[in-house]
Amino acid sequence: MKTYVIMLAGGRGTRMNVAVNKVLMSLCGKPVIRRSVEAFLSFADEMIIVSRPGEQDDLLAAVRPDSLPFPVRFVPGGETRQDSVLNGLRSLSADPGDAVLIHDAARCLVDEGLISRVIRSVSECGSGVPGIPATNTCKIVSPDSIVLQTPDRSSLYEIQTPQGFSAGMIIPAALKAAEDHCLCTDDAGLLEYCHLPVKIVPGSSSNFKLTEREDLSRAELFLKGDVASMRVGMGYDVHRLTPDRKLILCGTEIPSVLGLLGHSDADVALHALMDAMLGACALGDIGSHFPDTDERYRGISSLLLLKETAGILADAGWRVANADITIVAQKPKILPYIPDMVSNVALALGLPENCVSVKATTTERLGFEGRMEGISAYAVCSVSEKTE
Ligand code: MG
Repeated sequence: MKTYVIMLAGGRGTRMNVAVNKVLMSLCGKPVIRRSVEAFLSFADEMIIVSRPGEQDDLLAAVRPDSLPFPVRFVPGGETRQDSVLNGLRSLSADPGDAVLIHDAARCLVDEGLISRVIRSVSECGSGVPGIPATNTCKIVSPDSIVLQTPDRSSLYEIQTPQGFSAGMIIPAALKAAEDHCLCTDDAGLLEYCHLPVKIVPGSSSNFKLTEREDLSRAELFLKGDVASMRVGMGYDVHRLTPDRKLILCGTEIPSVLGLLGHSDADVALHALMDAMLGACALGDIGSHFPDTDERYRGISSLLLLKETAGILADAGWRVANADITIVAQKPKILPYIPDMVSNVALALGLPENCVSVKATTTERLGFEGRMEGISAYAVCSVSEKTE
């Protein structure tokens, strides 16, 4: 089964009050149309961009078809959306079993999960149309603004694109609707007109259409707060307490009769933090980067390892945004050393001190920490994509 994508790029942007086609506008440094096209990178076998003829050069420059793994063709749009879709469909040389996805280029935040759901539904039952359950009560209203009816909200869905169909269903349906001069507001309507079933798949609230000016700011906010560019990780570590060893926590030596046993300086708090950092970036754990069989790390200050870990993150394009460490120890009292510990960590990571938190707690004499057999530490940190 091949997947053909018909991308509707002829919007006029009248509601946005802009002279230029809104899909040519830049959104966080990239044209809207390019974002929409890129969403289909792993799915499309061929893409047909339906546009107004005068805009083809601008669209070519924005889409850069040479950089795409599938062929792109341009087809002129028609008077209405339905005419434009028909032009796109007529230009296809698809087999009846192939999937045809029809997408509004102004929905440039569509995600791969949604596109997969649509394609899967097409292969299973011939159609797949993303929808989200209506959250507001909807009313059917007369032309003079009088409410006629309140439909049951649980049966109402707001419909999005890409709408997907098997070629063998959508092409004859579109031709028949055109022949009968039947106007449909979306592509699924063409199947409905021919009494063919349309299957709804879960849509996504971020897959909104850039219609009003505010939608651009909303889309910018969404992209800047993209979950992919912000991550969290957690780390946990335990070291045994023993005589004749120093007690070093977050790089600060704390006077104590018992110290922590380990290959390095056994700084349990920094070990937990490093694991949180590596975990956030899915870069393994400290055991894999600094094995305790390696003589280079015998007795080494974990602050040096922390700096090295920050370097590993930087090479992968990440930097720590904040860190929060909890040390679990019955004794000694850690509170007086916390400012020093915060300052060590902040310095090693190049962070302001208000982005580093170190806390200490006892376990009310319960468990191995309470019996003073060991000290444990938990750490959580967030990382963001390096921008410089
Ligand atoms: Mg350790």
